[in-house]
Amino acid sequence: MAATSLTTPNTALLQKTHQSHAFLKPKTNLHYGTSRKPFSVCCSSTIQDRPSLQSQSQDRVFNFAAGPATLPENVLLKAQTELYNWRGSGMSVMEMSHRGKDFRSIIEKAEADLRALLNISEDYAVLFLQGGATTQFASVPLNLCQPDDTVDYLVTGSWGDKAFKEAKKYCKPKVVWNGKSENYVRVPSFDGLELSPNAKYLHICANETIYGVEFKDYPLPGNPNGVLVADMSSNFCSKPVDVSKFGLIYAGAQKNVGPSGVCIVIVRKDLIGNAQEITPVMLDYKIHADNNSLYNTPPCFGIYMCGLVFEDLLEQGGLKEVEKKNEKKAGILYNAIDESKGFYRCPVEKSVRSLMNVPFTLEKSELEAVFLKEAEKEKMVQLKGHRSVGGMRASIYNAMPLAGVEKLVSFMKDFQAKHA
Ligand code: PMP
Repeated sequence: MAATSLTTPNTALLQKTHQSHAFLKPKTNLHYGTSRKPFSVCCSSTIQDRPSLQSQSQDRVFNFAAGPATLPENVLLKAQTELYNWRGSGMSVMEMSHRGKDFRSIIEKAEADLRALLNISEDYAVLFLQGGATTQFASVPLNLCQPDDTVDYLVTGSWGDKAFKEAKKYCKPKVVWNGKSENYVRVPSFDGLELSPNAKYLHICANETIYGVEFKDYPLPGNPNGVLVADMSSNFCSKPVDVSKFGLIYAGAQKNVGPSGVCIVIVRKDLIGNAQEITPVMLDYKIHADNNSLYNTPPCFGIYMCGLVFEDLLEQGGLKEVEKKNEKKAGILYNAIDESKGFYRCPVEKSVRSLMNVPFTLEKSELEAVFLKEAEKEKMVQLKGHRSVGGMRASIYNAMPLAGVEKLVSFMKDFQAKHA
């Protein structure tokens, strides 16, 4: 009987040397008896240490979701090859002790790679926390000021507004500017801002995910001893950032750098250790910093995924290169909108348009549902704008390939030609 060597899409899952399960024995002959022609299949697990990662992109859609969002295909495939048996450990990352040496090597490498990407100095702690960016809306005031302290919030969208409202429970925040009456379409000039001279910090949302407004440079706090704090959830690691301008940066991972469940906090070490008395242990930066983010069980698999993304960004040449790619993608999409003679519109002031989240409306709003449906047929999904603003939104994070944006632009042009 001839043996046929079979490679399946899941072959990579079986590619590890340290296998003891009976069903993964190196040679398994499966006999399929039929009345006519019996044959046997030989599943060979001839092992490569680093299996080549095979693209299966034809099976995937272009996912324009704002987060959780698309992840780099090679990162997903690498995670797939390591899922069943992480580097010969005989278990997956999900099954490891968070205090064991394997997981420690994962979290340490993730931190080192992030430090390399953003050039983060030893003056800063890097924390991998739970609770999403929303938890930081409370953690920031609880850790950085006392109940009677004044802090400033510059509100350029609904996330900044949520952060301000949460801070009201823990200190005396003041809104120094609010773009709501103009529907959040711009960042104000920093010159005219009435910043509090005694504010412990000035909070901004570096990229408003819903409205698509992105800071291109950063204001200084009114208080020379105060610090700038930024929610960078939706543009984290999308471009180089001078971390030394900030006292604290936080970012939920699920947009640009990983799955949901991980929130990264980069905080200047001298700001740690003065939390308000009522601060729950889970929100206290000192406890997490003293324990290298291992005070309690961290979101291990999410941290591992973030680490793979950081490694991938370094392999791409670092954040300058990543920024160039993002500028190119955003450029062709905004051009298509601006050149559509009003068929599509983006309300955001050109100088602060987000490279990550591109909101746009259709002149004939009754066509929006058709647009979404036809786009979906073409395997472009999650283009609906946030429920609070309507219209469309294309989130084009680092992991969205240029081909995805080109396909969207070509679809938009065809759609316009059909419906104008
Ligand atoms: N800030 C920004 C800028 C966001 O986009 C989001 C989520 N969309 C959040 C905060 C809240 O993040 P999480 O869901 O991780 O709490």
